[in-house]
Amino acid sequence: MNILVINTGSSSLKYQLFNMETETILAKGNCERIGIDGHVKHTPTNGKPSLSEDVPMPSHSEAINIVINTLTSETYGVIDSLKEIHAVGHRVVHGGKKFSQSVLIDQAVIDALVECVRLAPLHVPANLMGINACQKAFPTAPHVAVFDTAFHLTMPDHAYIYSIPYEYYSDHDIRRYGFHGTSHRYVSAKATEFLGGNAEGLKIITCHLGNGASLAAIKDGKSVDTTMGATPLEGLPMGTRSGTVDPSLIPMISDAEGGLSIGDTLDILNKKSGVLGISGTSSDFRDIMNTAEFHLYEPENEDESAEDIETSERARLALDTFEYNVAKFIGSYIVALGGVDAIIFTAGVGENSPAIRKGICDWLKGFGIFVDDEKNGHAGGDGISDITSAGSSAIVLTIPTNEELVIARDTMALVKG
Ligand code: ADP
Repeated sequence: MNILVINTGSSSLKYQLFNMETETILAKGNCERIGIDGHVKHTPTNGKPSLSEDVPMPSHSEAINIVINTLTSETYGVIDSLKEIHAVGHRVVHGGKKFSQSVLIDQAVIDALVECVRLAPLHVPANLMGINACQKAFPTAPHVAVFDTAFHLTMPDHAYIYSIPYEYYSDHDIRRYGFHGTSHRYVSAKATEFLGGNAEGLKIITCHLGNGASLAAIKDGKSVDTTMGATPLEGLPMGTRSGTVDPSLIPMISDAEGGLSIGDTLDILNKKSGVLGISGTSSDFRDIMNTAEFHLYEPENEDESAEDIETSERARLALDTFEYNVAKFIGSYIVALGGVDAIIFTAGVGENSPAIRKGICDWLKGFGIFVDDEKNGHAGGDGISDITSAGSSAIVLTIPTNEELVIARDTMALVKG
């Protein structure tokens, strides 16, 4: 069975085509700048050449047609015809209170998703456009929706309720939902397998640290708390997002900018804050580490100007703030779980940066949690790495996440019934 996984944004459509017998990727790619001008990138895994070219894409429908033409093309293709795509799995950012697991898409599901638009007005309309375009392109194939929020619907009420007038929850569904659910579900299941396979009684903290970052507290295989909230802005500082701040900053920033609207002020918190905001140089953690280390490694460099020193000190401050906040939330989840058996690092930063993992774990020594520098330095790659130091009170692992594979697996499970 071949399954096409689709992840639609307002101006982008990412895809991966999976062969589910082998769980391997046949091709993956991305349509960018939909509705602006259009660019397609496509990478097949069968030895054919990759593609990267400008193609007009006025809407998501044109984008999906370009994906289909590319997947079946003689030069770049990996299948002979559309019939070789047996089902389509869609990443959907928000499933509200209704969807606690993945579902086969029918009209009732579409109607319920339309209801979710008010909860994620930037993301769900794009997801609906993607579903609509794919349903037209694959009218006979089953389509499945896999939700970022679903895994966290098991949170108890004391974890998801905001301490604001209750009517905002009861009448408007304003509550913490959490995101990155497919990633937290996948890596916590992998960790459970690694630790013997029995989720019962197991207390896991998963740290998804990428451009977007969130933590989840997982007990008995179920999410009991997570750092993102009603939107993905809450929680940790991220590449460009502020994470949790005093809400009074909104009028304060607005005033400082001479009377910015709420929307534009929120844009500052979403797009110009986080490690980008503090460092003033980049939202990319690798860039920031390079900038921070430049000063550390060359303190005697006579050519280094005061400006260079300040730039690297601000990069270091951005990293310190990130690491401190991750550790602080881990501490709060040790409270939420009544202890912790395993801490899992995943996603771009979590999987690939020994220095940031160490920076975070150094804060956890008071809990008796220690990582082994040698193992930490060599962790990463395709498999699970155990970076725990002897005598640590909790196991610390790095596990590569694979959200697209979760979507493909859920799709196959629902299609097979
Ligand atoms: P997204 O949220 O876009 O899926 P990813 O999970 O791919 O993000 O993570 C991207 C982030 O991971 C970038 O900031 C990148 O710099 C960072 N990253 C990747 N490799 C490393 C590394 N070796 N050291 C530090 N950061 C890294």
